[in-house]
Amino acid sequence: MSLSISNEQLIAAAESFGTPLYVYNADRIVHQFQQLKQAFSTSNVRIFYACKALTNINILKLIRQSGCQVDCSSVNEARLAIHAGFPAEQILYTSNGIGFSEIEEAVSLGININIDSLSNLEKFGQRYGHSYPVGIRLKPNIMAGGNLKISTGHEKSKFGIPIEQIQEVISLMNRYQIQIAGLHIHTGSEIKDVSVFMQVTDLFFDLIPSFPELKFLDLGGGFKVPYKDDDTATDIRLLGEKIRGFEEKITQTYQRSFEIWFEPGKFLVSEAGYFITSVNVLKVTSATTFAGVNSGFNHLIRPMFYESYHRIRNISNPDAPLQHYTVTGNICETDTFAWDRAIPEIREGDLLVFDNAGAYGFEMSSNYNSRYRPAEVLIKGGEAHLIRKREVFDDLLRNQVELF
Ligand code: PLP
Repeated sequence: MSLSISNEQLIAAAESFGTPLYVYNADRIVHQFQQLKQAFSTSNVRIFYACKALTNINILKLIRQSGCQVDCSSVNEARLAIHAGFPAEQILYTSNGIGFSEIEEAVSLGININIDSLSNLEKFGQRYGHSYPVGIRLKPNIMAGGNLKISTGHEKSKFGIPIEQIQEVISLMNRYQIQIAGLHIHTGSEIKDVSVFMQVTDLFFDLIPSFPELKFLDLGGGFKVPYKDDDTATDIRLLGEKIRGFEEKITQTYQRSFEIWFEPGKFLVSEAGYFITSVNVLKVTSATTFAGVNSGFNHLIRPMFYESYHRIRNISNPDAPLQHYTVTGNICETDTFAWDRAIPEIREGDLLVFDNAGAYGFEMSSNYNSRYRPAEVLIKGGEAHLIRKREVFDDLLRNQVELF
């Protein structure tokens, strides 16, 4: 099992399939899942891959084959999961802000559902009564996560039913005999500190007596992965120990037991992904030297959207002395990937690789500036397989209705 893809393999992939190119390492994804299984091996834990991070159908199939389950953010993701062979029972749909018809579709697929508004919960009760188990997504008023855009549990967040409205949840449950089978809280992404998860378990602990039909407690995703050399990740082994303690406390206090659910996205696929670009132009200015690559935020939006950090490596000239570059794209908009970054000397035509590109990379790409979305390649069993073709001109016109 190889946990990283060598420069030689990346260069070979770029030569075979062109750039810009997303490359994923199957071994690494399986390894990440094994790490989680190991960390929670003494607990009754189910892991659902938050597939909004990367939904290529081959990745979904790989995830399923490795024994992991799947968390979806739209009913179409659930359909993709079904296409990838997941049984309905292993599919979770954690919704937010959706119309009730999408919840009806999810019920018709027979998948697990977390509801995040009182209005949909009421409609759910009126329509299904006790007949279909459902989870409740709560907003705990906890500020956590790497930055505000990826913090979802704080007071001003749109996600979940505010915890202070829990009595209304209970009233609806009683009025319609709703079978509330789960409680869900996802506080955000890139949560380094295990104590944030334990704040959530404390909240759950107090809520347990109010929900007699509970079967699962869902702590969402958000495990932090390292981006920089000195970065720390979420200590999942420590989290595993704490979860074991939480389960024991529940058994002792309530003589009940629950499944504990997690929904990691980044943890499973971020480090498995590489984004390869080619340098189009070098531009020396009084402010900085720009290295302009054949991509932009249309292909990797995270630096501009979240100010996220991606290691950038010059795999064409890795041993050259470091110089400072501002790496930008070719989009007619400011699309800075990194400002004044030390990178081995760059020449036009060199291949620059962005690490940690597996999660929310291709998945958030677009056709902005009418550029093609990149191809995707999966390295599996030592071989590079094309898993999504590069777009072509016809793709830009597809679905447009030409009137003239
Ligand atoms: N679950 C929910 C409800 C989310 O909103 C997200 C992402 O924000 C995730 C899971 C996955 O988060 P991450 O990729 O940080 O693990």
